[in-house]
Amino acid sequence: MSKRRKIYEGKAKILYEGPDPGTVIQYFKDDATAFNNQKKGVIEGKGVLNNRISEFLMTQIAAIGIPTHLIKRLNMREQLCHAVEIIPIEIVVRNIVAGNMAKRFGIEEGQPLPRPIVEFYYKKDDLGDPMVTLDHIASFGWADMDEMDGIMGVSLRVNDFLSGLFLGAGLRLVDFKLEFGRLYDEDGNGIILLADEISPDNCRLWDVKTNEKMDKDRFRRDLGGVSEAYQEVARRLGLMNDGIAEAVAKGNVQEIVPKKKG
Ligand code: C5P
Repeated sequence: MSKRRKIYEGKAKILYEGPDPGTVIQYFKDDATAFNNQKKGVIEGKGVLNNRISEFLMTQIAAIGIPTHLIKRLNMREQLCHAVEIIPIEIVVRNIVAGNMAKRFGIEEGQPLPRPIVEFYYKKDDLGDPMVTLDHIASFGWADMDEMDGIMGVSLRVNDFLSGLFLGAGLRLVDFKLEFGRLYDEDGNGIILLADEISPDNCRLWDVKTNEKMDKDRFRRDLGGVSEAYQEVARRLGLMNDGIAEAVAKGNVQEIVPKKKG
């Protein structure tokens, strides 16, 4: 196996130094955590599925003119991405009341919202990712208001686009989380890229006809059939080909990054 320097290991992914300066390799694990690490488990084949689903969604999003960190998928578990400076804010967009919002306000899950709601959370595991406002973000210097204007606009565009895309696959996009990063050019000017991943790990997806949950809530709430639900999402998006089904069945195989030529 080629030697690579590990930059960071998160709950669901590992970041390695990429083959060229300014690049990283994002490795998708089968590990799953919930409730700020209090619940841990493994979802068989999740890394392979999320890698493919996220590649597909990021590529579609790039095709409507929204820049993302994805350069290309390398293999069943890895993507080559631009190295970005992650903005420490999680952007949650909600179309239907569910999860934390239902709990926080005592509203039953499933109520459609009259318009999408955008929320911000400070990415800090030790503090349980507290909800913050734009004033906190500006005051603590996590992002400036021009950046946040752009991020909110892009998040709502992604919401409209993905809602339509998932509806075409018989899935309702209930809510999801996005992360963004800064990429600097030689003059030190930063542009904002959509980063991290978009997959059933960070989207709530309900079957349009049955309202069956097809996302990580199956793991969080011990509903069973977690891997099967992720596979069904991939199947409905037309992605269970090119060896994906075999790689999922094969289990947790470490991939090797192809050596750079020359
Ligand atoms: O838990 P909550 O209801 O706030 O989650 C809203 C959406 O954001 C869900 O789709 C969930 O999967 C996603 N999320 C996430 N990572 C977090 C918190 C929420 O992907 N740390």
